[in-house]
Amino acid sequence: MSRIVYVNGDYVPEESATVSVFDRGFLFADGVYEVTSVLDGRILDFEGHVERLERSLGELGMEMPVPAGELLEIHRRLIAENDLREGTIYLQVTRGAADRDFIYPAAGTGQTLVLFTQARADLVDNPMAAKGLSIISIPDERWGRRDIKTVQLLYPSMGKMMAKAAGANDAWMVEDGHVTEGTSNNAYIVKDGTIVTRQLGNEILHGITRKAVLRFAREAQMKVEERPFTIEEAMAADEAFVTSASTFVLPVVEIDGTAVGSGTPGPVATRLREIYLDESRKSAI
Ligand code: PMP
Repeated sequence: MSRIVYVNGDYVPEESATVSVFDRGFLFADGVYEVTSVLDGRILDFEGHVERLERSLGELGMEMPVPAGELLEIHRRLIAENDLREGTIYLQVTRGAADRDFIYPAAGTGQTLVLFTQARADLVDNPMAAKGLSIISIPDERWGRRDIKTVQLLYPSMGKMMAKAAGANDAWMVEDGHVTEGTSNNAYIVKDGTIVTRQLGNEILHGITRKAVLRFAREAQMKVEERPFTIEEAMAADEAFVTSASTFVLPVVEIDGTAVGSGTPGPVATRLREIYLDESRKSAI
């Protein structure tokens, strides 16, 4: 069945949804995006994602294409049009179409705003929650402003392919001897009851799920340390896990072929997944 997608003010069947070949998102990766999850037809962490979108746009000298309230209405209409109960909503804003030039076109050229839904039956019942992920480490060869959620995802895509070729589920990226983050998630280890994850900075994306999970962990009296850690430290940890908007919390059970802890999903990751699902369902809109 064809989806209804949103393109610059119109709700159209996916076959008729088009963007210009001059779009700077296409030519320069001059655009940013967000992905939110939908459970029971309601959006998780909407406010956090809109806040980050505004920040990403601001860092690139762009404005919000429509006010936040209108973005919520677009999300809701796409949920209704596509009868989405469980899945994700992808949103992309680019600087729009203009003659190819490295210099940004004058403001007011007209940004491109695209949103589409992806139905998923396995967001909550993700088999990896029980099985745990195996990951490999790879050098972090992305650009230096990973805090901006741009659409230039080629290196993360290469990283997932490297993991696949190695028979693993994903990759953690390493820079100057320390783990930055996963290809599409934030990375954590647990040692002696303390959760360790890299501090915020330009080196990582400021995950919306990270923010929520760290808050829930602290509320549950778990100890959290925001600092860099090495792959060796991760291999010797009791547990490891990742977070993202579409996977919530997933345990990592193997790093570069070495079992983490018992080699099975740990209690902290399992508990945090439950808390995240409960709490974000409650606050979903
Ligand atoms: N880091 C990277 C590099 C990502 O691509 C993502 C997912 N977009 C995340 C972290 C997790 O962020 P969020 O929890 O906001 O999905």
